[in-house]
Amino acid sequence: MPKKIAVYPGSFDPLTNGHVDLIDRVSALTVFDELTVLIGINPTKQTRFTLAERIEMLESVIQPYPHVTIDQYSGLTAQYAQERGAAAIIRGLRAFSDFENEFQMSLMNRQIAPLVDTLFMMANTKYAHLSSTLVMQVAQMGGMQVSNEKLLEMVPPIVVEMLGKKYGVPGD
Ligand code: ADP
Repeated sequence: MPKKIAVYPGSFDPLTNGHVDLIDRVSALTVFDELTVLIGINPTKQTRFTLAERIEMLESVIQPYPHVTIDQYSGLTAQYAQERGAAAIIRGLRAFSDFENEFQMSLMNRQIAPLVDTLFMMANTKYAHLSSTLVMQVAQMGGMQVSNEKLLEMVPPIVVEMLGKKYGVPGD
């Protein structure tokens, strides 16, 4: 039997606890033998964290999950998934506003890779408000006023550390 692979694509710029929660919940689904977290690279798009930094963030959280791997790709996710022989692309849905874009994207992905399905996971209520953009705003604009403790509710420890290096250590 071929391995059942799920691909979870994103920018992870930076990684948030919402992303980690999704990785945790998908890994618990016994239907997949492997989950690949795929960092999408868009050479024309400026990122807040370098590819190496984003890989480091992901590596720090996937250690407890032996079946989770990390990869990077600069083309279409659907093409990557098809080449890997993946069964599914995983996407998270936070709010109704995510739906339209995600629905459209899933139809396009199916057109490109008919054998790859898209699996939507509803956000955990604890993290449904979290986005990389919002976390960045809090870290940049809150600066010193936002405690490490508060940031740790939003992002993994390694990301707090990296945000601290870029924008001044919170609570210092
Ligand atoms: P992209 O640029 O592809 O949207 P992101 O890194 O922002 O990349 O998100 C990757 C995936 O994770 C998307 O499917 C997004 O909906 C999902 N996601 C992001 N934040 C959360 C969250 N707080 N809860 C659940 N899913 C989330």
